[in-house]
Amino acid sequence: MWQVVGQTKVVSLLQRSLERGALAHAYLFIGPRHVGKMTLALNLAQALNCEAAEPPCGECASCQKIALAKHADVQIIGLVNDANSAEAKPRVEIGIDQIRQMQHSSSLPPFEGKYKVFIIDGAELLSIEAANCLLKTLEEPVGRVIFILLTTNDRLLPATVISRCQRLELPPLAATEVEAALNKRGVEPQKAKLLARLSRGCLGWALSAVDDGLQQRAEMMDRLLDIINADYEERFAYAAQLVAQFNKSRGLVQEILDLWLDWWRDLLLVKVGGSDTITNIDRLPTQVEMVRGYNLAQIRAFINSIQAAGEQLRQNANPRLVLEVLMLEIPRREGAVSRMSPP
Ligand SMILES: [Zn+2]
Repeated sequence: MWQVVGQTKVVSLLQRSLERGALAHAYLFIGPRHVGKMTLALNLAQALNCEAAEPPCGECASCQKIALAKHADVQIIGLVNDANSAEAKPRVEIGIDQIRQMQHSSSLPPFEGKYKVFIIDGAELLSIEAANCLLKTLEEPVGRVIFILLTTNDRLLPATVISRCQRLELPPLAATEVEAALNKRGVEPQKAKLLARLSRGCLGWALSAVDDGLQQRAEMMDRLLDIINADYEERFAYAAQLVAQFNKSRGLVQEILDLWLDWWRDLLLVKVGGSDTITNIDRLPTQVEMVRGYNLAQIRAFINSIQAAGEQLRQNANPRLVLEVLMLEIPRREGAVSRMSPP
C-alpha cells in the first residue's frame, strides 16, 4: 500500500521497476513543497525493505521503523539548523561534511534491512562542493544503495547531478483529490473544500493546516494586506521582520511569499472576470474592492516581482535586499488616500 495520495503515474512506474528488479540507483523527485515528495521517498524505502509479500505493507517492523525515521538503513540528509549546535550562523547549504558522512555510511553494507536508502531533502541547497562530492558517489554505483534527491526546482541543480538520476515529476494534485483525501481523514466537508482550494494541490500543506493553519494563514494574510497600504517605514520594518524569520526558517518566508502570490493572482483573475477560479474564496469581497485601485499592468508587474523575489531567495541572494526591493515595488493604488512619502 503506497501511502502517497495521487501521483499514480510515478507510483506505477516505481512499482513496475520494483517488480522487475530494475530500479535506478538514484532518483530525483521534483515537485512543489508539501506535494508528497518525502512521503513517496519513504514509501519507496519501505518497499525496498519491507518484509511482507506485497511491499510496501506499511505494517511490518521494517515499514513502521521507516515511517518513524528509526530505521538504521534509511537516512534523511537536509539543512540542519540544530538550535543546540555550536555553529553561530544558521546553515544555508547542505555541506560537504554531510555528503562525506553519507558516502562513508553508503560504503558499509545494510545494517538491518535489504537496502540502504539516502534521501537528500532540498537537493537544490547542496553547496557546489557537496554536489561535486555527491556526483562521484552517483558515478560509481554500488549494490543495494539507493539515493533519492528531492527538490522543488531542478534548475538549481548541476546538470551533471541530474543526468545521473532518474527524473520523476510530482505534479500538484487536483483540488478534488485533496478534498477527497481530507474527507477520508474526517475533516468536515466545508473546511475540506476551502483547504483544498487554498492548498494549491499540495495535500501536505492542507493536512498541516487542518488544526490551526487556517487561523495562522488568516493572520499572515491580514498582515500582508496591511502592508499594501502602509508607508515605506512600516514596509521596511516588515521586511526586517521577514529577514529575521528567514534566518530561522526559510520555508516560512517562502510560504508568506506564496500567500502573497496567490493574493495577486486572485486580483488578476477578479480583474479579468474569472473570480470563480480564485484561491482565496473566503475573501472575494475584499478583492473586488481592492482591484478597483489597480490596472492590469500593475498587477502583472507585481506578480512578476513576487516570483522574482522567491527565486532570488532560493538562490541565496541577500534576503534583506530582495525583500526591501519587493516592498518598494508594491504598486500604488489609484484613488487611495496616499500615506506614502519617499524613502
Ligand atoms: Zn512492510
